[in-house]
Amino acid sequence: MSTTTAEQQESGPAGAGPAVDSGQSRAERAARARVAAARLAAEGVAGVVLSWVDNAGLARVKAVPVRRLEAAAAWGVGAAPCFDVFLVDDSITTSRHIGGPAGDLRLVPDLDRLTRLAAQPGWAWAPADRFAQDGAVHPGCQRAFLRRQVAAAAERGLELRAGIEIEWVVALAGAPGEPPGYPTHGPAYGLHRLVDLSDYLRDLLQALDEQGLTVLQLHPEYAAGQFELSLAPEGPLAAADTTVLARQTVRAVGNRHGLRTSVAPVVEPGAVGNGGHLHLSLWRGPRNLGRGGPGRYGLTGEAEAFLAGVLAELPALLCLGAPSPASYLRLVPQHWAGAFQCWGLENREAALRLIPGPPGEGAGSANAELKCFDAAANPYLMIGAVLAAGLAGLGTHRSLPAEVPGDPALLPPQQQVPRLPATLLAAIAEYRACGLLREAMGDPLYEAVLAVRQGEHELFGGLPPEQVVAATRWRY
Ligand code: GLU
Ligand code: MG
Repeated sequence: MSTTTAEQQESGPAGAGPAVDSGQSRAERAARARVAAARLAAEGVAGVVLSWVDNAGLARVKAVPVRRLEAAAAWGVGAAPCFDVFLVDDSITTSRHIGGPAGDLRLVPDLDRLTRLAAQPGWAWAPADRFAQDGAVHPGCQRAFLRRQVAAAAERGLELRAGIEIEWVVALAGAPGEPPGYPTHGPAYGLHRLVDLSDYLRDLLQALDEQGLTVLQLHPEYAAGQFELSLAPEGPLAAADTTVLARQTVRAVGNRHGLRTSVAPVVEPGAVGNGGHLHLSLWRGPRNLGRGGPGRYGLTGEAEAFLAGVLAELPALLCLGAPSPASYLRLVPQHWAGAFQCWGLENREAALRLIPGPPGEGAGSANAELKCFDAAANPYLMIGAVLAAGLAGLGTHRSLPAEVPGDPALLPPQQQVPRLPATLLAAIAEYRACGLLREAMGDPLYEAVLAVRQGEHELFGGLPPEQVVAATRWRY
């Protein structure tokens, strides 16, 4: 059992929760930030963006001049707790524990991820952890939630590696309400699109590379103006941070090319949407537990139990991974969005797609892909909740149901598998009934998320798809 050191006790506001962050004292953080700020200033950086992702899935920010980075690292930057109950349209709801105009939190930049932004000259970025004024971890802090799940896995000697695919649509800049016009009309996955947007895509690759992100693939996707980027797997917190940084970079590079970016679940009603598929693999030390085991396709018992736990909780997990009413316009059969609660080898219509990887490629590439999630999700919440569900599956030695090898929509009636919730309201009902998530998230965070989901259901629930899409298209 760990004890609190005197230094931790006295570390005060933004003592930055030594139990859950890199463990540095205020003085150490300040010293580190001073060196980093001097380097950034010499490189021409004027401002540092501190971002967190709210429960609606939007990245919100405060920025500081580079010479204030040291103070921000030591003491944090003020931010209202009511951001936890902001909705996607910036209206503000309230929840049982969090809401109202009063109070203040401290945003503390995580210097491990401090990055000079290649496509926003003069700017750097760092994700922020959120603390109360007295230095306690804010119970609504989504990054802290994810850190807790990572620690729970580590207690069992397990580590998750994760990567979120980034799908987005680029459109020609226009008025906010207008349906998008596209800068390329090339075919799905077509070479035309790479030719039409060659400079943009090159600049994107360069910017991501300069920021230290490892791109595995970039390709045109199915829908009009749609592209996809996959990034190398990382630890859960790093993967969530990377997602925030990569999306910001896609947007910034697009702006420099006169293009507008949307990662909204649906950009055109009825069309294929933007997924935010989560790839994951479970490791014990150097061993990928998804390969070389005695189970189906080489799964070890632990990997199977973990995945079975996730699969069982998917209806409730949708509230975190597919959080918007618009998410359910995307999550429909035969759109490769994974609308059915089943798993299958390389099956793009199953919510859980098992990817053992090519035989020669080594154990590293074996992973599972959760396809039902989209880019409106807060990546910290999504990955943290998946970890919690997987660990619960491990605890109860769950096993996977029968595999679904083809399109679940075409199964005869007697073999049908459950569809995932088809509306946000149905997902909210599952989330409400999910004690596991309430316990893992803690009441304040769990309730704040619930309030935001209910608020967005009330905003958009009764509207026709065209209006939901028009209202959300440019918000994400
Ligand atoms: N765009 C699809 C979605 O909404 C996914 C396509 C793919 O399999 O990458 O999730
Ligand atoms: Mg894709």
